[in-house]
Amino acid sequence: ERLAQLDDPPAAPLTLGIYWTGSCGGCDANVADLGEALLALSSHVDVAIWPLATDFKPADVERLETDEIDICLFNGAIRLDDHEEMAHLLRDRSRTLVAYGACAHLGGIPGLAEFSSPDDLVRTKYEDVPTVTGGESPRGETDVESGRLELPTLRDGVDRLEDVVDVEYTVPGCPPSRRFTADLLLSALEEDLPEPGTVLA
Ligand code: SF4
Repeated sequence: ERLAQLDDPPAAPLTLGIYWTGSCGGCDANVADLGEALLALSSHVDVAIWPLATDFKPADVERLETDEIDICLFNGAIRLDDHEEMAHLLRDRSRTLVAYGACAHLGGIPGLAEFSSPDDLVRTKYEDVPTVTGGESPRGETDVESGRLELPTLRDGVDRLEDVVDVEYTVPGCPPSRRFTADLLLSALEEDLPEPGTVLA
């Protein structure tokens, strides 16, 4: 209903960012699944970054100005050093930063990694895990200590987005409701967002 009431595209469309860190990709798919709502919004929105849907390089974020993104939906937990770095960068480049989905909100499924040390996780994943063919793990002989295996740096634990940067809003859900997501983007477009600090559900 609200979408149908949108007028012609405004002179300055909403600049949108969508980014994922330690996530399953479901939150990104959830936005893509907005379907007709996404189509209706598309002429009102400029997508500044969205790795799922665009040819993305981290340098694209560095090139943006401070506060250039009007609203950024950030999904995923903070598991790697890269994630924390990008969280700080997107905090600077976004006027409004949203912890979108259970992983950014509370750690979600990636938060289960809190029960194991980073060394145990790497060993299990890349050395000990059996293969479906019953043979050696394809990376079983790789020696992590020797540096032959290049992996991003695992932080000691898993953090929520708000543990590393300030966020304006939190949207719970795994994934969040699509109707609610469309409403959120419409409210941002109409500059009618609630008080920062609100959990939007
Ligand atoms: Fe996937 Fe759920 Fe995390 Fe979204 S909140 S990234 S759907 S696990």
